[in-house]
Amino acid sequence: MEIIGVAYRLCPRCFRAVPAASGERYCPNDGTRLLETCPRCQTPIPSPYARFCVVCGQGFGLVTSKGGKA
Ligand SMILES: [Zn+2]
Ligand SMILES: [Zn+2]
Repeated sequence: MEIIGVAYRLCPRCFRAVPAASGERYCPNDGTRLLETCPRCQTPIPSPYARFCVVCGQGFGLVTSKGGKA
């Protein structure tokens, strides 16, 4: 399979980013499943600093209604 450029996996909870090639699937900080692509449009995540999808504007962070302070 071709990978277009460098893609990243991103933790939706703490925004830790790792290269997709690292093979990490879960965040070592909080055990959250890393996002590999945009949850809405499946666009690969092009930057470790991305917080929103560049194509559809979907936020990558977890949406919680609890609003607890960290
Ligand atoms: Zn995390
Ligand atoms: Zn998207």
